[in-house]
Amino acid sequence: MQYNKLGNTDLELSQLGYGASPLGNVFGEVDQSVGIRTVHSALDWGINYIDCSPYYGLTKAETVLGKALKGIARDRYILSSKAGRYGPQQADFDMSPKRIRASLEESLQRLGVDELDIFLLHDIEFVDLEYVLAESLPCLEALKKEGRIRYFGVTGYPLLSLQKIVENYQLDCVLSYCRYALHDTSLLSITELLQQQGVGIINASPTAMGLLTARGAPDWHPAAPELIDCCRRAHQLCNERGVNITQVAMQFAVGHCAISSTLVGTANVQNLRNNLDWIEQPIDRALVAEIREIFDACSNSIWPSGRTENSDI
Ligand code: NAD
Repeated sequence: MQYNKLGNTDLELSQLGYGASPLGNVFGEVDQSVGIRTVHSALDWGINYIDCSPYYGLTKAETVLGKALKGIARDRYILSSKAGRYGPQQADFDMSPKRIRASLEESLQRLGVDELDIFLLHDIEFVDLEYVLAESLPCLEALKKEGRIRYFGVTGYPLLSLQKIVENYQLDCVLSYCRYALHDTSLLSITELLQQQGVGIINASPTAMGLLTARGAPDWHPAAPELIDCCRRAHQLCNERGVNITQVAMQFAVGHCAISSTLVGTANVQNLRNNLDWIEQPIDRALVAEIREIFDACSNSIWPSGRTENSDI
């Protein structure tokens, strides 16, 4: 496993990180003991970075992850969690300093730790970015000074929102998802800015939240039918070549040097083992070029997210 420095922080994240959202049954019902075993396997196999949020399964994922981490030496893992998002609706967001502070304490308790290594505002595009800059981020900065968290940043889907925040506030890192994967590489439009500012880059969702898997996207997936169709064609092409599309997706997503860690979510030990094996194998560049041609022709490879004024489309 390769370990990469996260921006200007002193954290060295495993190239592949463990996204704990499936522990909250986000992609289907997961037996708790299976989820816990998967977390233990991730740590045993060299993954040192784990990400969670109170939003995943409405606190279930943090609760199960806390059980999995019980008794494990604190220096064996780097842990991020989030605040600000507590449900799927616009009304479920609260990025006020009061709620952020309470949320951190609740997360620390569920996770069974004294401190978070990384604390992130969850999906900033759903709230007023001026408020985030004026109130929420100064709260995270204060929590860092108080020693309750080590580093802070934001997560979000629209790149314009991430860019606006980074241009106006010194963050330690950003977590972007579905913007550097086989279907869409537009994260690269802001990587230079992030690097210039010393902001670490965490890339999430290498399978684009299931789109680039044989099982396909869950019902709630926001992708347009055209993109889903392109994924089906890419899947068919891979099948013809005798390659699993998720293998190519994993290899592609971890392959950019600007990205410190790529978070993949799975509660299945065999999937995790496959992902770890695949990223050590050379990528078939000719096949990637053919797959990219399919997605380059797709005029609908991103989707709206959050408030209209914060969305990329
Ligand atoms: P993902 O691309 O990691 O997809 C997860 C899906 O892919 C699951 O259904 C899983 O079963 C399947 N999968 C994984 N490996 C597989 C394999 N080898 N074979 C077949 N299927 C496989 O998307 P994700 O789970 O949304 O993202 C990963 C993590 O990133 C999340 O758990 C979360 O921690 C983080 N994330 C954060 C945000 C945010 O902050 N806004 C958004 C998305 C993701």
